[in-house]
Amino acid sequence: MRKQIVAGNWKMNNNLQETKELINDIAAHLPQTNTKVMVAPTFVYLQHAVAAAKDSPIEIIAQNMHFAAQGAYTGEISSTMLQDIGVQTVILGHSERRAYFGEDASLLRTKVDRALEVNMQIVFCFGEELEDRKAGNHFDVVQEQLSDALFHLGEKAWEQIVLAYEPVWAIGTGETASGAQAQEMHAFVRNTLEQQYNGQLAASTSILYGGSVKPNNAADLFSNPDVDGGLIGGAALKAEDFIAIIKAI
Ligand code: PEP
Repeated sequence: MRKQIVAGNWKMNNNLQETKELINDIAAHLPQTNTKVMVAPTFVYLQHAVAAAKDSPIEIIAQNMHFAAQGAYTGEISSTMLQDIGVQTVILGHSERRAYFGEDASLLRTKVDRALEVNMQIVFCFGEELEDRKAGNHFDVVQEQLSDALFHLGEKAWEQIVLAYEPVWAIGTGETASGAQAQEMHAFVRNTLEQQYNGQLAASTSILYGGSVKPNNAADLFSNPDVDGGLIGGAALKAEDFIAIIKAI
């Protein structure tokens, strides 16, 4: 059966000391839970983060990676480099990567393929912009994002994929999708997986919600049957808030 997951995306925040302290703080206050907890610090501190999380159930994951194994790609980080320092999971397709770094479907597809080639797990983000929702195109946009980057994959590959629905209008804005809006889209995605693959694959794929999840709205979002946890930005930067969100599942 699918896993429940709460993952924190720290983006370009926290210095080295803050990184270690926040991991220690989260580890010290983690409740007894079956929920998988992941944290994504910036690249340069990943190795320190892996060391800090060593004796805890927290998995340290990367915010991005390059599509090639190695080579002349100045400033980039490869999957094998991540694995070398103990990182086995990567976030791909975050809306900030799509918007500010021009990551489109064909590039994301190459990154997905690379991660799977070396047996990494992927947290794949997708979601519509405000104008798509206002125009009523949000289901089409989401279907296209998934189809372009993931539907070439065979069934087996889906064991390594977690989906994260992140409506762009709700990221870092304080504007959250309601529990009903999240459930509606998650059910649509699960149904799409069932059509494209089969019911068993659809039922065993975790679908997280991301977009201004806070301690005061987490329970409403997570109580929906197709919402399997959250990808958390701002509220993952405070141990107390992140722990409260984990407890809300
Ligand atoms: C995110 O960036 O993935 C995110 C969900 O951010 P926030 O929680 O701050 O909206």
